[in-house]
Amino acid sequence: MERSCPPCQRMTAKAAPHPDLISLSKMENSQLFKCRCCNSYLHLDLNGWEILSAGNYPPQTQDDSHSLRSA
Ligand SMILES: [Zn+2]
Repeated sequence: MERSCPPCQRMTAKAAPHPDLISLSKMENSQLFKCRCCNSYLHLDLNGWEILSAGNYPPQTQDDSHSLRSA
């Protein structure tokens, strides 16, 4: 199931890009971003943000109870 991370899902209206969004291309009235957190592709134009392609969030790691403590 494809999902975007919470900061991406909050990218609506006139919000500024969150820190994990990388600008891929910039045109006169639109910009394309990729999120390095969830790998979503987002498009920004005069109407606001649109998620073009949902990413992979949360990441597929299932070791919350088996994490190694190397101290
Ligand atoms: Zn994201």
